[in-house]
Amino acid sequence: MSLDLLTIPAECVTESRISELDINNIEFGKIFSDHMLVADYKDGAWQNPQILPYGNMSLSPATSALHYGQAIFEGMKAYKDANGDILLFRPLDNFRRLNVSAERMCMPAITEDIFMQGLEQLLRLDAAWVPPTAGCALYIRPFMFATDDFIGVRPSSSYRFTIFSCPVGAYYGQALKVAIEPSFVRSAEGGAGYAKAAGNYGAALLPAKKMQEKGYHQLIWTDAKEHKYIEESGTMNLMFVIDGKLITPPVSTTILAGITRDSVLTLARDLGYTVEERKVSVDELVEAHKAGKLQEAFGTGTAATIAHIATIHYNDMDLDLPAVEDREISNRISTELDKIKTGQAPDPHNWVHRV
Ligand code: PMP
Repeated sequence: MSLDLLTIPAECVTESRISELDINNIEFGKIFSDHMLVADYKDGAWQNPQILPYGNMSLSPATSALHYGQAIFEGMKAYKDANGDILLFRPLDNFRRLNVSAERMCMPAITEDIFMQGLEQLLRLDAAWVPPTAGCALYIRPFMFATDDFIGVRPSSSYRFTIFSCPVGAYYGQALKVAIEPSFVRSAEGGAGYAKAAGNYGAALLPAKKMQEKGYHQLIWTDAKEHKYIEESGTMNLMFVIDGKLITPPVSTTILAGITRDSVLTLARDLGYTVEERKVSVDELVEAHKAGKLQEAFGTGTAATIAHIATIHYNDMDLDLPAVEDREISNRISTELDKIKTGQAPDPHNWVHRV
């Protein structure tokens, strides 16, 4: 089905709920914008894309996504520039990654037409929900789940694709205290760690909660075989500056290919920094810290862009890192990337998509 010449039919709200939103005090993930996109996959094709008022869906208790976890999602943000235009950051990369996840979870690919046209139409309708305030954004959640009402274990033959959104406030997080996870595993080679599949997140909740109970904000996942190499953290990829070089684990079947990760590496190369995508062992971090060469550590992701790490806990050691204001690479790239996303800096890689 080609939507090239079609607009997606929309049933608009009679009254916007925007007055429920306190723009100066946005609570994360609670108030959703007025509209959502819905499309259904049936008889081997995506059908009937439509925009509806945001609202509940009615599901059979036998809906297969609820039992066997064919459910995938994406996360992206829209910003307003100084003229009030809406800017998306690398949305086609989210589209492509959703389809990488779909393939791994034995689900059909969504079409670019439905994803991109749906997204643009939704944003035009809900433009008032994109906060103009610095640091704030409209968080957009595309997702897909299996809808067969059948409790046999098999790939579903029907699916629903949806996009909805919610305004989010600025991320003023303190630098994180993280701990290296010694026993739980997020992802193993040959598994589905590189997919943004719902179950990956469900299975990470208990280990994360246990670490939080010990006083850490997040845990750092290590490889499933030996717990020797650094993987990623929560919903962020990880980067380290050791002796002036920006070093990050390579993307693989066990790590999600973060769009922020790729953007940070690209900007770092543009700025002339040495970038190494290679395995980073826990021992290397400990040794670098001992030698005074572990200069920066941070997570990268859509939520925070860059989240600085203050302390890495491992065994009985606390590796304390230099003060955030002394960190050259992460601060420089964080500022540059936020400027590109909001239209305040040139965009040499054509990452910004104007709606
Ligand atoms: N790793 C995981 C497991 C994630 O869920 C995310 C968030 N999508 C990331 C890394 C960062 O990816 P991105 O920069 O595309 O937000």
